[in-house]
Amino acid sequence: MKALVFKGVGKIELAELPKPVLQDSTDAIVRIIAASICGTDLHMVRGSMSGMKPGSILGHEAVGIVEQVGASVQNFKEGDRVVVCSTIACGNCVYCQAEEYSSCDRANPNGPEAGTAFFGGPVSSGPFDGLQAEFARIPYADAVLVAIPEQVNNDDALLVSDVFPTGYMAAKIADVQEGDIVAVFGCGPVGQMAIASAKLLGASKVIAVDCLQDRLETAKGQGAMILNYNENDPVEALHDLSDGYGPDACIDAVGLDAEKATEGPASEKRPFIKEFSDYLEQKMLAPTKFNLGDQWRQGNAPSQVLQWCVESVRKSGVISIVGVYAENSVRFPIGLAMQKALTVRAANCSHRKYVPTLLKLIADGQFRPSAILTKQCDLIQAVNCYEHFDRRESGWLKVRLSPAA
Ligand SMILES: [Zn+2]
Ligand SMILES: [Zn+2]
Repeated sequence: MKALVFKGVGKIELAELPKPVLQDSTDAIVRIIAASICGTDLHMVRGSMSGMKPGSILGHEAVGIVEQVGASVQNFKEGDRVVVCSTIACGNCVYCQAEEYSSCDRANPNGPEAGTAFFGGPVSSGPFDGLQAEFARIPYADAVLVAIPEQVNNDDALLVSDVFPTGYMAAKIADVQEGDIVAVFGCGPVGQMAIASAKLLGASKVIAVDCLQDRLETAKGQGAMILNYNENDPVEALHDLSDGYGPDACIDAVGLDAEKATEGPASEKRPFIKEFSDYLEQKMLAPTKFNLGDQWRQGNAPSQVLQWCVESVRKSGVISIVGVYAENSVRFPIGLAMQKALTVRAANCSHRKYVPTLLKLIADGQFRPSAILTKQCDLIQAVNCYEHFDRRESGWLKVRLSPAA
């Protein structure tokens, strides 16, 4: 079968590999109808999330058709159309019973303290081969797969594999209430889903912050107010847009690849700018077609976005962090957070907790997440698609990869 394979930092290729086989009685084999490229995949390719095993298949977002199930799989049979949850959970441990699937005690072979298990990630996350392939082995199929209702098409379901639940969780853990003002930093796919979710949960005003005009326009299309941090200081502007108080909640949907936050006048007065500039300079010398994030692995890197969140949110407000950070990757302004009595929540998404709810919401016609799917490509074009996506080119917000039928 064809699959997109990680070869080394900055190096990926389409490879011909043997089709996966059942390894445990709780496994299923799924024929992939469509997979998508995620910002998290870029962390692996860039090396900002280290520990990828060369030869592993990338990707953690997909929909497909069940082709084969292990002897203990109860809920699925051959031919079922399913969405694959990005994170892998056993479905039975105390955490899974409490719907804290991203904290599952059993799914990560590195042990209960090793962190969230997911498809297409580094050794510390399993490792499990990813979903940007023609077929995939799905561990704990009963907990990781969810049947797609007939009324939901493949493209909408594809967005439920990761980014919609992650954006929805971002709004949930931001404790968004009816009438709240919510700022969403980062208007990539997760940010767009966080904007939609904040509105679904009753926010009266959502302010989208980014520097890429096409992404801001998409946010505006969803009814958000938009703020380009290269044109306005986001902290001042957010206070102005909320009667001087600051938003009730700030969502960080950017994470550790926030290097773009250094560009432009607004950030020049911020203390972290020098380090960001050094980083950018170094990165430009790197001989690869991908943006490399090596320096972030050293630890102690600053996050402009977290600084902005803490400075702009109202006193006693909530910071919700769903952008991906590596362990020890970031400095956080804890003193200011304490002084302002903030609640700070950060989590990998427990996809399985939200996927059924979101599929129902789509089936009921309340929202169409596939509106953000801007490119449809064949899996064999995957390397080329990654390059466009890595450069954040206009029109490359979210990419669907479909193996040829
Ligand atoms: Zn993803
Ligand atoms: Zn579990």
